Amino acid sequence: RLAYVNGRYVPHAQAMVHVEDRGYQFADGVYEVVPVIDGVLVDEEPHLDRLGYSLQELRIAWPVTRPVLKLILRELMTSNGLKRGLVYFQVSRGVAPRDHKFPAGIKSALVITTKRMNPPSEAVLRHGVAVSSQPDIRWTRRDIKSLSLLPNILAKQAATEAKAFEAWLVDGDGVVTEGSSTNAWIVKDGTVITYPKGHDILGGITRLSLLELADKTGTKLVERSFTLKEAISADEAFLTSSSAFILPVTSIDGQQIGSGKPGPVTQQLRQIYLDNVARQVQA
Ligand code: PMP
Repeated sequence: RLAYVNGRYVPHAQAMVHVEDRGYQFADGVYEVVPVIDGVLVDEEPHLDRLGYSLQELRIAWPVTRPVLKLILRELMTSNGLKRGLVYFQVSRGVAPRDHKFPAGIKSALVITTKRMNPPSEAVLRHGVAVSSQPDIRWTRRDIKSLSLLPNILAKQAATEAKAFEAWLVDGDGVVTEGSSTNAWIVKDGTVITYPKGHDILGGITRLSLLELADKTGTKLVERSFTLKEAISADEAFLTSSSAFILPVTSIDGQQIGSGKPGPVTQQLRQIYLDNVARQVQA
């Protein structure tokens, strides 16, 4: 298995960055995770658009041009025989002696890895997953896909210790913003609800695709905030991300959601989403 590190394809075990890479020292960089199905990058263009947005917001230059990045991603996937899994790429501001302010004249640094991943198990799809609520202690620019993930890691670890699959992050008003690495959704009286796009959440690509697809099928959708209390009394709940796609959430803090089984709206949305992925793969 190879990794790509600043212009070179190197064996994964020997893939290293400089000790003064600002990604390493300051988390001064951004990343993307793109799902791969049958060797095809799912929703590649929106992911690259979001990378461009994150870079622009932090005033980091593209490490290579967008077309070159697309070529490198393909080269690495082919070398690694990646059919189903994830491609991870991160861009840091670059390498320079440690100093908070932006160093002059450095080139941004690019690292890419791939990972095989199996689809979620039958059991997970049949039973859904548990989530645990955790305080949202992040900064106020969560729309930037920054490498700085300490609050997300701490929340996910706390959720794991509570035997939950994911953490749902709750702000000071009792509102669920999103998951530690997923977007959060509920369904009430047939209406699908998720937090509105803005600086408070990471604009998930799965979230974006699903909103577009569900809108076309006439699903009632509202982008608004919902509280933890509301989520617990919802008819259904689910989460979305590039690695999980759409997973039913059947309990929150040990309390059953709706029937305690994956709900009909969730299952229908999951199918709509998977059909769209299948169309991209066939194209
Ligand atoms: N929110 C956060 C905080 C995330 O880290 C992620 C995963 N990158 C998501 C939501 C889901 O985004 P996507 O659908 O693009 O994977």
